[in-house]
Amino acid sequence: MKPTRPGQQSGFLSRRRFLRLAGALAGGSLLAACASRTPASLGDTPFLPRLATWPAGRRAAVAFTFDWETAMGGLVHSRSIGDPNVDQDYLLRARRMREGLATTMAIFAPLAIRATYYATGYNFLRGNREQRQFLGNPIFPWATQANGWTSDRWTTTPWFADDPFGTVESHPEWYFGDLIEPLREAGHTIESHTFSHFHGGLVDPVTWRLDLQTWNNLAAERGVPPARSLAFPWSSSAGMSDASWDELELAGITSVTRLSNQAQYSLWEVDQDGVVLHPRPCWLPGREGRMMACPDFYLTVSRTSLALVQIERAVETGGMIDFWAHTEEVVSAEQIASWQRVATRVANDIRLWVAPLDELATWSAAVAEVRVEADALDAQRGDLHLQLTNPTRTALSGLTLHVPAATQQVFVEDVELETLRGRLSWRMGWWPAAALVTLDLPAETVLRMRIVT
Ligand SMILES: [Zn+2]
Repeated sequence: MKPTRPGQQSGFLSRRRFLRLAGALAGGSLLAACASRTPASLGDTPFLPRLATWPAGRRAAVAFTFDWETAMGGLVHSRSIGDPNVDQDYLLRARRMREGLATTMAIFAPLAIRATYYATGYNFLRGNREQRQFLGNPIFPWATQANGWTSDRWTTTPWFADDPFGTVESHPEWYFGDLIEPLREAGHTIESHTFSHFHGGLVDPVTWRLDLQTWNNLAAERGVPPARSLAFPWSSSAGMSDASWDELELAGITSVTRLSNQAQYSLWEVDQDGVVLHPRPCWLPGREGRMMACPDFYLTVSRTSLALVQIERAVETGGMIDFWAHTEEVVSAEQIASWQRVATRVANDIRLWVAPLDELATWSAAVAEVRVEADALDAQRGDLHLQLTNPTRTALSGLTLHVPAATQQVFVEDVELETLRGRLSWRMGWWPAAALVTLDLPAETVLRMRIVT
Protein backbone atom coordinates (compact mmCIF):
# COMPACT_ATOMS: atom_id res chain seq x y z
CA MET A 1 0.00 0.00 0.00
CA LYS A 2 2.69 2.44 -1.01
CA PRO A 3 1.47 5.87 -2.05
CA THR A 4 2.95 7.27 -5.19
CA ARG A 5 1.23 10.62 -5.47
CA PRO A 6 2.76 13.77 -4.13
CA GLY A 7 0.49 15.42 -1.58
CA GLN A 8 -1.11 18.78 -2.26
CA GLN A 9 -2.18 19.83 1.23
CA SER A 10 -0.92 22.86 3.05
CA GLY A 11 1.20 22.41 6.12
CA PHE A 12 3.43 19.87 4.41
CA LEU A 13 7.06 19.78 5.26
CA SER A 14 8.22 21.48 2.10
CA ARG A 15 11.29 20.38 0.23
CA ARG A 16 12.99 23.62 1.19
CA ARG A 17 12.22 23.16 4.88
CA PHE A 18 13.17 19.51 4.68
CA LEU A 19 16.54 20.42 3.25
CA ARG A 20 17.05 23.06 5.89
CA LEU A 21 16.22 20.55 8.62
CA ALA A 22 18.58 18.13 6.99
CA GLY A 23 21.33 20.71 7.09
CA ALA A 24 21.81 20.29 3.38
CA LEU A 25 20.46 23.51 1.94
CA ALA A 26 23.71 24.48 0.28
CA GLY A 27 23.40 21.94 -2.49
CA GLY A 28 24.45 19.01 -0.33
CA SER A 29 23.14 15.52 -0.86
CA LEU A 30 19.94 14.55 0.91
CA LEU A 31 21.93 11.71 2.33
CA ALA A 32 23.53 14.30 4.56
CA ALA A 33 20.32 13.88 6.54
CA CYS A 34 21.67 10.51 7.48
CA ALA A 35 24.75 11.87 9.18
CA SER A 36 25.05 10.31 12.59
CA ARG A 37 25.96 12.15 15.72
CA THR A 38 29.47 10.79 16.09
CA PRO A 39 30.91 11.55 19.51
CA ALA A 40 33.72 14.06 19.07
CA SER A 41 36.22 11.96 20.96
CA LEU A 42 36.13 9.28 18.30
CA GLY A 43 37.44 11.57 15.62
CA ASP A 44 39.92 13.49 17.74
CA THR A 45 42.30 10.69 18.62
CA PRO A 46 43.08 8.51 15.64
CA PHE A 47 44.39 5.52 17.57
CA LEU A 48 41.38 5.18 19.84
CA PRO A 49 39.45 1.93 19.36
CA ARG A 50 36.42 2.41 17.16
CA LEU A 51 32.95 1.21 18.16
CA ALA A 52 31.35 -1.30 15.83
CA THR A 53 27.81 -0.45 14.76
CA TRP A 54 26.27 -3.81 15.67
CA PRO A 55 26.80 -6.28 18.54
CA ALA A 56 29.18 -9.25 18.64
CA GLY A 57 31.09 -8.15 15.58
CA ARG A 58 28.12 -8.49 13.26
CA ARG A 59 28.51 -6.57 10.04
CA ALA A 60 24.89 -5.63 9.40
CA ALA A 61 21.43 -5.92 10.90
CA VAL A 62 18.17 -7.25 9.52
CA ALA A 63 14.60 -6.87 10.76
CA PHE A 64 11.58 -8.76 9.49
CA THR A 65 8.41 -6.72 9.92
CA PHE A 66 4.78 -6.90 8.89
CA ASP A 67 1.90 -4.53 8.54
CA TRP A 68 -0.87 -6.47 10.20
CA GLU A 69 -4.39 -5.16 10.12
CA THR A 70 -7.91 -6.43 10.69
CA ALA A 71 -10.88 -5.70 8.43
CA MET A 72 -11.22 -2.42 10.29
CA GLY A 73 -7.55 -1.65 10.08
CA GLY A 74 -7.24 -0.36 6.58
CA LEU A 75 -8.98 -3.05 4.59
CA VAL A 76 -12.53 -1.80 4.98
CA HIS A 77 -11.27 1.67 4.08
CA SER A 78 -9.45 0.46 1.01
CA ARG A 79 -7.46 3.09 -0.69
CA SER A 80 -6.58 2.31 -4.27
CA ILE A 81 -3.20 3.88 -4.69
CA GLY A 82 -0.31 1.46 -4.71
CA ASP A 83 -2.37 -1.37 -3.19
CA PRO A 84 -2.10 -4.49 -5.37
CA ASN A 85 -5.06 -6.15 -3.61
CA VAL A 86 -7.47 -3.23 -3.44
CA ASP A 87 -10.10 -4.80 -5.71
CA GLN A 88 -10.48 -7.86 -3.53
CA ASP A 89 -13.07 -8.63 -0.87
CA TYR A 90 -11.85 -7.04 2.32
CA LEU A 91 -13.12 -9.88 4.50
CA LEU A 92 -11.16 -12.36 2.42
CA ARG A 93 -8.10 -10.16 2.81
CA ALA A 94 -8.63 -9.95 6.56
CA ARG A 95 -8.78 -13.74 6.74
CA ARG A 96 -5.47 -13.82 4.91
CA MET A 97 -4.08 -11.23 7.35
CA ARG A 98 -4.93 -13.71 10.09
CA GLU A 99 -3.57 -16.69 8.18
CA GLY A 100 -0.35 -14.83 7.44
CA LEU A 101 0.35 -14.57 11.12
CA ALA A 102 0.47 -18.35 11.46
CA THR A 103 2.52 -18.83 8.29
CA THR A 104 5.13 -16.21 9.18
CA MET A 105 5.45 -17.49 12.74
CA ALA A 106 5.98 -20.99 11.35
CA ILE A 107 8.76 -19.70 9.07
CA PHE A 108 10.57 -17.92 11.91
CA ALA A 109 10.23 -20.45 14.75
CA PRO A 110 12.83 -23.01 13.59
CA LEU A 111 15.24 -20.18 12.67
CA ALA A 112 14.87 -18.48 16.10
CA ILE A 113 14.02 -15.20 14.35
CA ARG A 114 12.08 -12.61 16.30
CA ALA A 115 10.05 -10.31 14.09
CA THR A 116 8.02 -7.14 14.53
CA TYR A 117 4.29 -6.96 13.79
CA TYR A 118 2.90 -3.47 13.23
CA ALA A 119 -0.69 -3.79 14.37
CA THR A 120 -3.75 -1.60 14.11
CA GLY A 121 -6.02 -1.07 17.13
CA TYR A 122 -8.70 -3.67 16.45
CA ASN A 123 -5.97 -6.34 16.51
CA PHE A 124 -6.08 -6.11 20.32
CA LEU A 125 -9.84 -6.73 20.60
CA ARG A 126 -11.43 -10.08 21.30
CA GLY A 127 -14.64 -8.49 20.15
CA ASN A 128 -16.70 -5.38 20.65
CA ARG A 129 -20.03 -6.53 22.04
CA GLU A 130 -19.93 -3.54 24.38
CA GLN A 131 -20.00 -1.27 21.32
CA ARG A 132 -17.03 0.73 22.53
CA GLN A 133 -16.23 3.82 20.53
CA PHE A 134 -12.72 4.98 19.79
CA LEU A 135 -11.19 8.43 19.17
CA GLY A 136 -14.63 9.99 19.62
CA ASN A 137 -16.05 8.05 16.65
CA PRO A 138 -14.41 10.28 14.03
CA ILE A 139 -15.35 11.05 10.46
CA PHE A 140 -12.32 11.73 8.27
CA PRO A 141 -13.32 14.22 5.58
CA TRP A 142 -9.93 13.86 3.85
CA ALA A 143 -10.67 10.23 2.84
CA THR A 144 -11.82 11.30 -0.60
CA GLN A 145 -11.50 9.85 -4.07
CA ALA A 146 -9.19 12.75 -4.82
CA ASN A 147 -6.89 11.42 -2.10
CA GLY A 148 -7.01 7.89 -3.44
CA TRP A 149 -10.03 6.25 -1.86
CA THR A 150 -12.32 4.15 -4.03
CA SER A 151 -15.37 6.19 -3.04
CA ASP A 152 -16.27 9.27 -1.01
CA ARG A 153 -18.17 7.18 1.53
CA TRP A 154 -15.75 7.90 4.37
CA THR A 155 -16.16 11.64 4.03
CA THR A 156 -19.60 11.25 5.68
CA THR A 157 -19.40 7.88 7.46
CA PRO A 158 -17.67 7.42 10.84
CA TRP A 159 -14.39 5.56 10.38
CA PHE A 160 -15.36 2.70 12.71
CA ALA A 161 -18.99 2.54 11.53
CA ASP A 162 -18.79 -0.94 10.01
CA ASP A 163 -17.75 -2.58 13.29
CA PRO A 164 -20.15 -5.57 13.53
CA PHE A 165 -19.96 -5.42 17.35
CA GLY A 166 -19.26 -9.14 17.40
CA THR A 167 -16.52 -11.38 18.75
CA VAL A 168 -13.43 -13.22 17.54
CA GLU A 169 -15.68 -16.25 17.08
CA SER A 170 -18.44 -14.51 15.11
CA HIS A 171 -16.24 -12.05 13.20
CA PRO A 172 -12.64 -13.32 13.10
CA GLU A 173 -11.85 -10.85 10.31
CA TRP A 174 -12.52 -7.90 12.61
CA TYR A 175 -10.78 -8.83 15.86
CA PHE A 176 -7.39 -10.49 16.27
CA GLY A 177 -7.23 -10.40 20.09
CA ASP A 178 -6.78 -14.15 20.30
CA LEU A 179 -3.51 -13.90 18.36
CA ILE A 180 -1.72 -11.44 20.65
CA GLU A 181 -0.60 -13.91 23.28
CA PRO A 182 0.83 -16.58 20.93
CA LEU A 183 2.69 -13.86 19.06
CA ARG A 184 4.30 -12.49 22.20
CA GLU A 185 5.06 -15.92 23.62
CA ALA A 186 7.05 -16.64 20.47
CA GLY A 187 9.22 -13.57 21.24
CA HIS A 188 7.93 -11.26 18.53
CA THR A 189 7.22 -7.61 19.23
CA ILE A 190 4.02 -5.70 18.50
CA GLU A 191 4.31 -2.07 17.47
CA SER A 192 1.98 0.59 16.10
CA HIS A 193 0.58 0.73 12.58
CA THR A 194 -1.68 3.43 14.11
CA PHE A 195 -4.93 2.52 15.85
CA SER A 196 -7.10 3.81 13.02
CA HIS A 197 -5.03 3.03 9.95
CA PHE A 198 -5.40 6.60 8.81
CA HIS A 199 -3.33 8.68 6.42
CA GLY A 200 -0.61 10.19 8.61
CA GLY A 201 -0.06 13.20 6.40
CA LEU A 202 -3.75 14.12 6.23
CA VAL A 203 -4.79 14.02 9.90
CA ASP A 204 -4.18 16.81 12.38
CA PRO A 205 -1.86 16.57 15.40
CA VAL A 206 -4.74 16.16 17.88
CA THR A 207 -6.00 13.13 15.98
CA TRP A 208 -2.50 11.71 16.02
CA ARG A 209 -2.34 12.18 19.80
CA LEU A 210 -5.69 10.46 20.36
CA ASP A 211 -4.77 7.64 18.05
CA LEU A 212 -1.41 6.93 19.70
CA GLN A 213 -2.99 7.06 23.17
CA THR A 214 -5.85 4.76 22.15
CA TRP A 215 -3.43 2.23 20.65
CA ASN A 216 -1.38 2.25 23.87
CA ASN A 217 -4.50 1.91 26.05
CA LEU A 218 -5.79 -1.12 24.16
CA ALA A 219 -2.31 -2.65 24.04
CA ALA A 220 -2.10 -2.25 27.83
CA GLU A 221 -5.41 -4.11 28.22
CA ARG A 222 -3.64 -7.07 26.62
CA GLY A 223 -0.36 -6.65 28.50
CA VAL A 224 1.48 -5.22 25.49
CA PRO A 225 3.89 -2.37 26.28
CA PRO A 226 3.38 1.10 24.75
CA ALA A 227 4.53 1.42 21.15
CA ARG A 228 8.09 2.64 20.60
CA SER A 229 8.05 2.14 16.85
CA LEU A 230 5.57 3.07 14.14
CA ALA A 231 4.99 1.96 10.55
CA PHE A 232 3.02 4.51 8.54
CA PRO A 233 -0.16 3.18 6.90
CA TRP A 234 0.17 3.55 3.12
CA SER A 235 3.66 4.89 3.83
CA SER A 236 1.84 8.13 4.57
CA SER A 237 4.63 10.13 6.19
CA ALA A 238 4.58 12.69 3.39
CA GLY A 239 2.63 15.70 4.54
CA MET A 240 3.30 15.18 8.23
CA SER A 241 3.48 18.57 9.92
CA ASP A 242 6.13 19.30 12.53
CA ALA A 243 3.34 19.32 15.12
CA SER A 244 2.29 15.80 14.10
CA TRP A 245 5.87 14.57 14.36
CA ASP A 246 5.96 16.17 17.83
CA GLU A 247 2.96 14.03 18.84
CA LEU A 248 4.81 10.87 17.81
CA GLU A 249 7.78 11.93 19.84
CA LEU A 250 5.69 12.88 22.88
CA ALA A 251 3.98 9.49 22.74
CA GLY A 252 7.37 7.78 23.02
CA ILE A 253 7.86 6.70 19.41
CA THR A 254 11.62 6.47 18.82
CA SER A 255 11.73 4.71 15.45
CA VAL A 256 9.67 4.83 12.27
CA THR A 257 9.48 2.83 9.06
CA ARG A 258 7.33 2.73 5.87
CA LEU A 259 8.34 6.28 5.16
CA SER A 260 7.03 7.82 2.00
CA ASN A 261 8.98 6.88 -1.08
CA GLN A 262 8.48 10.31 -2.61
CA ALA A 263 11.85 11.52 -3.75
CA GLN A 264 11.79 14.72 -1.72
CA TYR A 265 11.22 12.87 1.53
CA SER A 266 13.33 9.80 0.88
CA LEU A 267 16.32 9.50 3.15
CA TRP A 268 17.94 6.72 1.15
CA GLU A 269 19.08 6.45 -2.43
CA VAL A 270 17.78 3.41 -4.33
CA ASP A 271 18.99 1.86 -7.57
CA GLN A 272 16.77 1.19 -10.59
CA ASP A 273 15.54 -2.06 -8.99
CA GLY A 274 14.60 -0.39 -5.73
CA VAL A 275 17.57 -1.78 -3.80
CA VAL A 276 18.60 0.68 -1.09
CA LEU A 277 22.21 1.62 -1.85
CA HIS A 278 23.33 2.67 1.62
CA PRO A 279 20.79 1.10 3.91
CA ARG A 280 21.25 2.28 7.46
CA PRO A 281 19.18 3.83 10.20
CA CYS A 282 19.08 7.63 10.02
CA TRP A 283 18.05 10.21 12.51
CA LEU A 284 14.94 11.92 11.29
CA PRO A 285 16.02 15.37 10.07
CA GLY A 286 15.50 17.84 12.89
CA ARG A 287 15.04 15.05 15.46
CA GLU A 288 18.61 13.86 15.78
CA GLY A 289 19.16 11.73 18.84
CA ARG A 290 15.42 11.32 19.35
CA MET A 291 13.74 9.60 16.42
CA MET A 292 15.26 7.15 14.01
CA ALA A 293 14.09 6.26 10.54
CA CYS A 294 14.79 2.78 9.17
CA PRO A 295 15.08 1.82 5.49
CA ASP A 296 12.71 -0.93 4.33
CA PHE A 297 12.49 -3.36 1.43
CA TYR A 298 9.12 -4.67 0.23
CA LEU A 299 9.60 -8.41 -0.12
CA THR A 300 7.40 -10.02 -2.77
CA VAL A 301 7.85 -13.21 -4.78
CA SER A 302 9.22 -11.36 -7.80
CA ARG A 303 11.71 -9.44 -5.63
CA THR A 304 13.19 -12.48 -3.83
CA SER A 305 16.55 -12.43 -5.57
CA LEU A 306 16.73 -8.65 -5.21
CA ALA A 307 16.30 -9.16 -1.46
CA LEU A 308 19.47 -11.24 -1.48
CA VAL A 309 21.24 -8.39 -3.29
CA GLN A 310 19.86 -6.02 -0.65
CA ILE A 311 21.39 -8.16 2.11
CA GLU A 312 24.79 -7.91 0.45
CA ARG A 313 24.42 -4.12 0.18
CA ALA A 314 23.68 -3.99 3.90
CA VAL A 315 26.77 -6.05 4.70
CA GLU A 316 28.99 -3.96 2.41
CA THR A 317 27.87 -0.73 4.02
CA GLY A 318 27.59 -2.03 7.59
CA GLY A 319 23.97 -1.00 7.66
CA MET A 320 20.52 -2.43 8.30
CA ILE A 321 17.46 -3.32 6.29
CA ASP A 322 13.86 -4.03 7.21
CA PHE A 323 12.21 -6.70 5.03
CA TRP A 324 8.47 -6.21 5.08
CA ALA A 325 5.09 -7.10 3.64
CA HIS A 326 1.54 -7.38 4.91
CA THR A 327 0.85 -10.69 6.61
CA GLU A 328 -1.81 -11.27 3.92
CA GLU A 329 1.05 -11.44 1.42
CA VAL A 330 2.73 -14.47 2.99
CA VAL A 331 0.03 -17.09 2.50
CA SER A 332 0.45 -18.74 -0.92
CA ALA A 333 3.02 -21.53 -1.38
CA GLU A 334 5.11 -19.21 -3.56
CA GLN A 335 4.99 -16.34 -1.06
CA ILE A 336 5.89 -18.62 1.84
CA ALA A 337 8.80 -20.06 -0.16
CA SER A 338 10.07 -16.55 -0.90
CA TRP A 339 10.04 -15.50 2.74
CA GLN A 340 11.47 -18.82 3.82
CA ARG A 341 14.37 -18.39 1.41
CA VAL A 342 15.25 -14.91 2.62
CA ALA A 343 14.75 -15.73 6.31
CA THR A 344 16.90 -18.87 6.09
CA ARG A 345 19.59 -16.98 4.20
CA VAL A 346 19.65 -14.29 6.90
CA ALA A 347 19.51 -16.68 9.86
CA ASN A 348 22.47 -18.70 8.56
CA ASP A 349 24.69 -15.70 7.89
CA ILE A 350 27.04 -15.13 10.82
CA ARG A 351 27.62 -11.55 9.61
CA LEU A 352 24.03 -10.55 10.30
CA TRP A 353 22.26 -9.56 13.48
CA VAL A 354 18.53 -10.28 13.33
CA ALA A 355 16.26 -8.59 15.85
CA PRO A 356 12.91 -6.84 16.08
CA LEU A 357 13.08 -3.43 14.43
CA ASP A 358 12.51 -1.51 17.65
CA GLU A 359 15.46 -3.32 19.25
CA LEU A 360 17.74 -2.58 16.30
CA ALA A 361 16.79 1.10 16.42
CA THR A 362 17.23 1.28 20.19
CA TRP A 363 20.64 -0.35 19.93
CA SER A 364 21.73 1.94 17.15
CA ALA A 365 20.56 5.05 19.03
CA ALA A 366 22.36 3.97 22.21
CA VAL A 367 25.66 3.14 20.49
CA ALA A 368 25.63 6.63 18.98
CA GLU A 369 25.77 8.00 22.54
CA VAL A 370 28.58 5.78 23.83
CA ARG A 371 31.84 7.64 24.40
CA VAL A 372 35.28 6.08 24.01
CA GLU A 373 37.85 8.32 25.68
CA ALA A 374 41.53 7.98 26.37
CA ASP A 375 42.12 7.85 30.10
CA ALA A 376 45.91 7.92 30.06
CA LEU A 377 48.41 6.55 27.66
CA ASP A 378 51.33 4.59 29.08
CA ALA A 379 53.47 4.69 25.97
CA GLN A 380 56.45 2.97 27.53
CA ARG A 381 54.51 -0.12 28.53
CA GLY A 382 52.45 0.09 25.36
CA ASP A 383 49.22 0.24 27.32
CA LEU A 384 46.17 2.14 26.19
CA HIS A 385 43.88 3.16 29.02
CA LEU A 386 40.33 3.89 28.02
CA GLN A 387 37.09 4.92 29.53
CA LEU A 388 33.87 3.64 27.99
CA THR A 389 30.75 5.57 28.91
CA ASN A 390 27.19 4.47 28.23
CA PRO A 391 25.01 7.40 29.30
CA THR A 392 21.82 5.75 27.99
CA ARG A 393 19.25 3.51 29.65
CA THR A 394 19.99 0.77 27.15
CA ALA A 395 22.20 -2.11 28.28
CA LEU A 396 24.61 -2.91 25.46
CA SER A 397 25.32 -6.64 25.61
CA GLY A 398 27.99 -7.64 23.14
CA LEU A 399 29.18 -4.14 22.34
CA THR A 400 32.11 -4.52 19.97
CA LEU A 401 35.25 -2.41 19.55
CA HIS A 402 37.88 -2.53 16.84
CA VAL A 403 41.26 -2.58 18.63
CA PRO A 404 44.79 -2.23 17.23
CA ALA A 405 46.02 -5.33 15.40
CA ALA A 406 49.02 -5.54 17.72
CA THR A 407 46.80 -5.99 20.80
CA GLN A 408 48.00 -8.74 23.11
CA GLN A 409 45.77 -8.46 26.13
CA VAL A 410 42.56 -6.63 27.02
CA PHE A 411 41.45 -5.80 30.54
CA VAL A 412 38.04 -4.50 31.62
CA GLU A 413 38.00 -3.13 35.16
CA ASP A 414 41.35 -4.93 35.72
CA VAL A 415 39.93 -8.32 34.74
CA GLU A 416 41.61 -9.85 31.72
CA LEU A 417 39.24 -10.76 28.93
CA GLU A 418 39.36 -14.29 27.62
CA THR A 419 41.06 -14.70 24.26
CA LEU A 420 38.55 -16.28 21.90
CA ARG A 421 39.21 -18.16 18.72
CA GLY A 422 36.94 -19.31 15.93
CA ARG A 423 33.47 -17.95 15.39
CA LEU A 424 32.35 -14.78 17.04
CA SER A 425 29.88 -15.35 19.81
CA TRP A 426 27.90 -13.26 22.26
CA ARG A 427 30.45 -14.00 24.98
CA MET A 428 32.64 -11.28 26.41
CA GLY A 429 36.15 -11.61 25.10
CA TRP A 430 38.45 -10.65 22.32
CA TRP A 431 39.40 -12.20 19.01
CA PRO A 432 43.04 -11.52 18.07
CA ALA A 433 42.52 -12.63 14.47
CA ALA A 434 39.77 -10.07 13.92
CA ALA A 435 41.14 -7.41 16.30
CA LEU A 436 37.71 -7.21 17.89
CA VAL A 437 36.73 -6.94 21.53
CA THR A 438 33.23 -7.73 22.71
CA LEU A 439 31.98 -6.77 26.13
CA ASP A 440 28.81 -6.01 28.02
CA LEU A 441 28.37 -2.33 28.77
CA PRO A 442 25.44 -1.91 31.18
CA ALA A 443 23.11 1.07 31.04
CA GLU A 444 24.30 4.33 32.62
CA THR A 445 27.74 2.91 33.33
CA VAL A 446 31.37 3.89 32.91
CA LEU A 447 33.91 1.10 32.42
CA ARG A 448 37.69 1.29 32.49
CA MET A 449 39.53 -0.63 29.86
CA ARG A 450 43.21 -1.36 29.27
CA ILE A 451 44.62 -2.55 26.00
CA VAL A 452 48.13 -3.97 26.02
CA THR A 453 49.93 -3.88 22.70
ZN1 LIG B 1 -1.43 -0.95 6.40
